[in-house]
Amino acid sequence: MSYEHRGDIWLKRLEVGEYGNNCYIVIDPVTKQSAIIDAPAEPDRIIEATVGTQVKYILITHTHGDHTGALRELVEATGAKVGVHPTEAEKIAPYGNLMLNENDTLQIGTVPLRILHTPGHTPGSSCFITGSHLFTGDTLFPGGPGRSASPDDLAQELQSITKKLFLLMPQTTVYPGHGASTTIADAQCEHAYFASQPHPSDLHGDVLWMPS
Ligand SMILES: [Zn+2]
Ligand SMILES: [Zn+2]
Repeated sequence: MSYEHRGDIWLKRLEVGEYGNNCYIVIDPVTKQSAIIDAPAEPDRIIEATVGTQVKYILITHTHGDHTGALRELVEATGAKVGVHPTEAEKIAPYGNLMLNENDTLQIGTVPLRILHTPGHTPGSSCFITGSHLFTGDTLFPGGPGRSASPDDLAQELQSITKKLFLLMPQTTVYPGHGASTTIADAQCEHAYFASQPHPSDLHGDVLWMPS
């Protein structure tokens, strides 16, 4: 497998498991240190994709089972620290040993990666940004926010998206937990339409920015 060159980082995306989950591997081209973002499934494929790098962190966007199913095997194979938001750490005990809080910055070799706490999809949902690359888990997808369990959760998720993620540079690429990528600019554009429309007060679940 070849590395995809993304300027300041090398990035690999693997689609694994039965829910089409993305596992991303962020690699520092200088030191070859790496971080695995989410641990969905098919650990052997993920481990193979890290060969030639030193895995420093396994970072969990949120603790739904489709993002953590391969965690034990990845920890055993790499010995890496497992980062998670404190509100969800006990859900992956005993593995979550690095608490990720808002605005913390981790170093993957020479590559800084900043934590954004973006609750809504789950209470501890977090996004990770380095340069113009944003990893959003199930918080933001092409075409809409991730699934919300209640109207309050949707309101919180929209706050996270519009008050935090939309402050990032428009050209930032959004790498979600499932499926294809998008950009902050595209999401802002689609959201502007959504915000201009009336919505039922109980709106939640699988919400789209624009009718399909
Ligand atoms: Zn989820
Ligand atoms: Zn998911």
